[in-house]
Amino acid sequence: MSAGREGGCACGELRYRLSSEPLFVHCCHCLNCQLQTGSAFVINVLIETDRLELLAGEPELVPVPRGTKKQKIWRCPTCRIALYSQYTTPRVRFVRAGTLDDPASVAPDVHIYTRSKLPWVELPESVPAFSTYYDTQKLWPAASLERLEAALSAGRRT
Ligand SMILES: [Zn+2]
Ligand SMILES: [Zn+2]
Repeated sequence: MSAGREGGCACGELRYRLSSEPLFVHCCHCLNCQLQTGSAFVINVLIETDRLELLAGEPELVPVPRGTKKQKIWRCPTCRIALYSQYTTPRVRFVRAGTLDDPASVAPDVHIYTRSKLPWVELPESVPAFSTYYDTQKLWPAASLERLEAALSAGRRT
């Protein structure tokens, strides 16, 4: 366990801390993530919004077109590095693992949208992989499912 991971942007204005272990870690090979990162895939650390503590700076919300919708991506207002995004619920953040001070401190729990995986990327046999998305209930550890449910029900109360 290495809770308390920290990360930030390139210019140092924005700093954050993850106050616990992630819920789950995605490696996404979809075309949208390839477009956003300019790379082969993105590594997203899923964590409750209230466990993403901002230590310095104020991220700027940038709505980015994704198909017919807009995806919310938070960036450093100065160097424009993307730090995290939101897909569905505002209670969970998708933190980009490359912005951690120690990106090697997390590893993908699942590979998703492998249907658009670049052909030269070879995936490890030991990690589940899906051509599109997957069933959270089947794959997440019980503790993470409990945390997700708690986060979502907290959201419903407000
Ligand atoms: Zn910056
Ligand atoms: Zn993706």
